[in-house]
Amino acid sequence: MLFLDKSEISKLAKELNFNLIGFTKVKELNKEVSKLSEWISKGLHAKMGYMERNIEKKLSVKNVLPTAESVISLGVNYYHDIEYDNRSNMGRISRYAAGKDYHNVIEEKIEKLIARIIEYYPDFQSKYYVDSGPVMDKAWAVNAGLGWMGKNSNIINAQIGSWFFIGNIITNYAFEYDVPVKDKCGTCTACIEACPTSAIIQPYVVDSNKCISYLTIENKGDISDDFKGKFNNRIFGCDICQEVCPWNIKFAKETTEEAFSVINKEIDLDSLEFITSEEFNQKYKNSPIKRAKLKGMIRNANFLKLK
Ligand code: SF4
Ligand code: SF4
Repeated sequence: MLFLDKSEISKLAKELNFNLIGFTKVKELNKEVSKLSEWISKGLHAKMGYMERNIEKKLSVKNVLPTAESVISLGVNYYHDIEYDNRSNMGRISRYAAGKDYHNVIEEKIEKLIARIIEYYPDFQSKYYVDSGPVMDKAWAVNAGLGWMGKNSNIINAQIGSWFFIGNIITNYAFEYDVPVKDKCGTCTACIEACPTSAIIQPYVVDSNKCISYLTIENKGDISDDFKGKFNNRIFGCDICQEVCPWNIKFAKETTEEAFSVINKEIDLDSLEFITSEEFNQKYKNSPIKRAKLKGMIRNANFLKLK
């Protein structure tokens, strides 16, 4: 079996400004897939049909890379202590979308990391994913010890909190493995209490049909009047359950990643009426905001104006 000293990879990852790294042996994710299937069977994934697909790849990454031995989980901090304008005509953008699109930024970093590894180990085979594709990114991050799954369903690291993106590399190499960390949510229920739409229906279970993040981004339909006045001016995504988390309040650190410098923190709710789709696409072409499209953002702005 091909074996590599993980400290070599960790050193290269640090040079590329990855904040977290963990190594885990591939296995079938039976427990995680069964929880996912139960969540889907209750319709809690709302209209995110892609969640239902590629279950066999979610179960075993050997269905993605047959020679897979390990998963390397990586984390990049994106936190900024942002000062928001509290005027009611300003819609807030979730922190993860304040800078450049993390998919591109992290994919580029991972590609550089893999290229560096291959310089030394030409038979290093790999497949990688950043919050897309058929693998369970959070489950691998937990197994690799990056953090524990919080009651708000974000992965929390005891040193930097939960404001980090995850990328996973599946590889044919073996390492000395890390172990999952203990759940440190304890008796805390701050996220459950703070969620304005009661989307965390029980600890560790989020109902996407009620989650502002889903409703303002993935959702293609109307937003129910049931949520009127509950969005706290969130026009794209929602950070509330992370903002109240004591691990973030205490341990979140400003990111040093240039690409995540704040470009978009708010949008004037009236401004969207006056731009064309082309202008919108051009303005947000490097931002995760493009995902909601102009139509979705206008819907969100109009919904926030209902109060
Ligand atoms: S993102 Fe917002 S709406 Fe969704 S669970 Fe967290 S606090 Fe609730
Ligand atoms: S707010 Fe409390 S319960 Fe929720 S994720 Fe953070 S520590 Fe866990």
